[in-house]
Amino acid sequence: MIGIDFYWGFVLYLGVWLVTIFILWIRELRRLRLYDLKVGKNELCKCNSCHYNFLMNNNSNISRCPRCNAMCILRKRR
Ligand SMILES: [Zn+2]
Repeated sequence: MIGIDFYWGFVLYLGVWLVTIFILWIRELRRLRLYDLKVGKNELCKCNSCHYNFLMNNNSNISRCPRCNAMCILRKRR
């Protein structure tokens, strides 16, 4: 069996946990970046009649609500 004292065992344990947390953090950042590319703030539209939130197509300011079929105008924010 490999002889290891308490200090180096603790350092190894801490290092493994730090590497694991770093890998999970990088993975989460990558996932958030991919999600931001797909769903932007300007694409989300809220119907004024039934308060239903839905996603609009890109580069369009006007759409119909999928629930109540009312016209929804998306105003671009600056
Ligand atoms: Zn609606």
